[in-house]
Amino acid sequence: MYALAVENVSFGYTPDVPTLRNVLLDVHKGEFLGLIGPNGSGKTTLLRLLDRIYIPQNGHIRFNGRDINLLSRTEIAQQIAFVPQDTGPLFPFTVLEIVLMGRAPHSRGRAFENPRDRDIAAEMLSLTDVAHLAHQPITALSGGERQRVFIARALAQQPQLLLLDEPNAHLDIAHQIEIFDIIRKLNRGSGLTVISVSHDLNLAGAYSDRVAMMVCGAIAAVGTPEEVFTESLILDVFRTPVVVDRHPSGSVPRVTLVHSEQTSLWAGRTSAHVSNRVEPTS
Ligand code: ADP
Repeated sequence: MYALAVENVSFGYTPDVPTLRNVLLDVHKGEFLGLIGPNGSGKTTLLRLLDRIYIPQNGHIRFNGRDINLLSRTEIAQQIAFVPQDTGPLFPFTVLEIVLMGRAPHSRGRAFENPRDRDIAAEMLSLTDVAHLAHQPITALSGGERQRVFIARALAQQPQLLLLDEPNAHLDIAHQIEIFDIIRKLNRGSGLTVISVSHDLNLAGAYSDRVAMMVCGAIAAVGTPEEVFTESLILDVFRTPVVVDRHPSGSVPRVTLVHSEQTSLWAGRTSAHVSNRVEPTS
């Protein structure tokens, strides 16, 4: 059974302007799926629908076989965690208070957290390297530190499905690798299903079992990073020339941007590599 089945989902913020068009996507339990695509292609909107912040106007989303419209808000919060790109204006809660909020869906009927909640929060603070900030107000943290706190809160939820919207956007390179390693460890160790939006194709390629590429509100391609990261597909979707070869480790494709001064280097490759245009599926 799929952890998640997105069945012909369409959605628009305003009538007559479709943002998502007949999105079809299956995600296996325990899979790490990278979601990529140009700005405005609908990635964040899709994550919001998967967390039932919005409801599809057409189609269905099934989580563990059940229509998510039939789940209570508490059931969703117990099973699905969403780390948004932008956490918006913040009240100066401490870092520990924010991470403990992740335990709220599991503490119904209790006014306060219990020792287990505190242990889990402490573990996630430590995993994400923010334990030393536990008593700082969130408003006093850098963008990258905040990002790690919100990832810690999502992990404290102990979800089955983790939705990440550009989790690496504010992180330095050491913390990018550290956070992705932690998430992958949970993904491999406890079967956590992960969907992660990223503009860093190399990071997505290194960690994802499969990659889904969105264009104009539809899924244009889904497959392993080797299948999706081709020079022609990336040129068609992003309108940007790239060179794709192997990462020196040999394990994953490596995507290198070709800057304007380097186009002569790349020009000879275009005729051989650019053939298949990518059109949305509807
Ligand atoms: P992506 O994550 O791929 O950059 P988004 O899902 O954020 O794309 O946006 C897809 C489209 O929906 C864009 O054209 C964007 O302007 C529009 N959009 C996003 N959020 C809203 C909103 N709250 N109200 C109206 N339009 C929105």
